[in-house]
Amino acid sequence: MDVTVVGSCNMDLSTYAPRFPKPGETMTGHKYVVGFGGKGANQCVSAVRLGCKTAMVGKVGNDDNGNRTIDNFKSNGVTTDYMTITDQSSTGVAAITIADTGENSIVIVPGANLLLTAVDVTAVEDLIKGSKVVVCQLEVGLSATLETLRLARKHNVRSIFNTAPAQSGLSNDFFVLSDILCANENEAEMMTGLPVSDVAQAVTAIGVLLDKGCRYAIITLGEKGTVFASQENKKPTYIPATKVKAVDTTGAGDSFVGSLAFYLATRPDLSFEKALQRSSIIASISVQSPGTQYSYPWRKDLQPELF
Ligand code: ATP
Repeated sequence: MDVTVVGSCNMDLSTYAPRFPKPGETMTGHKYVVGFGGKGANQCVSAVRLGCKTAMVGKVGNDDNGNRTIDNFKSNGVTTDYMTITDQSSTGVAAITIADTGENSIVIVPGANLLLTAVDVTAVEDLIKGSKVVVCQLEVGLSATLETLRLARKHNVRSIFNTAPAQSGLSNDFFVLSDILCANENEAEMMTGLPVSDVAQAVTAIGVLLDKGCRYAIITLGEKGTVFASQENKKPTYIPATKVKAVDTTGAGDSFVGSLAFYLATRPDLSFEKALQRSSIIASISVQSPGTQYSYPWRKDLQPELF
């Protein structure tokens, strides 16, 4: 396997309405869209569309949303042999309301995602051992994420730990076991206790993240770009984002992480900086069309120079 993702799968149920309903109010909306989401699933789909052998390790409920989630992976070419189905909970859902102002409110019910634990990850040790890059985040049981990092380190497999969604109080083990830690502004603030809203602040925060023990630290700053540094070269490097007309930035971070996994797995000859530059180009393409997975590009639609 080139890339294995251990992580979350959600169905995004989006309703579009003139405004948010008041407590107790029933109102009529004008559009309903169902999309596939969950950070793990998004990152997996982002990677596979660029053209690498990709497997998903996740958990869904024994319900229609679960079946659709697995079908979606299959139609994208993701190996689903390591997905599990539980009777104990429903497939994760994100109930999203989008008002005419563009503001949204989201209720996530993680459901089966939280039932993915270290036991499930230990059961796929051979898969992790045989992967070039392993990716994990924080939308599943935390023991699953930690076990993923532990097994990747044990077998000398490159790991990308995407620290989303933002959480405080993560144990040191997450940092020490991470090969590459990738945080957005909010997450970097939460983990370092420092403000992180521009490049200069990210440069300072990167040092604090490295001190926690990861080998590489990356902070993504949306349209302001990306900053990274490593234990070997602690001097932070800044990669500007491509200037584009953004239509919908939802899931840009997942596009970036999935792309990075792809480049590290398939182009080990590229420098880390070049892999990040190309991942940032792919993410900038994703923000130019609406939707999350829908906006992730396929290899056939991209310039050959990107590969
Ligand atoms: P999300 O939570 O929406 O998935 P995120 O906060 O995790 O996103 P961002 O930092 O917003 O992640 O974006 C990740 C990368 O995507 C950035 O480092 C940048 O390279 C690219 N990107 C994001 N937004 C834009 C934009 N408006 N224009 C160009 N590139 C962008």
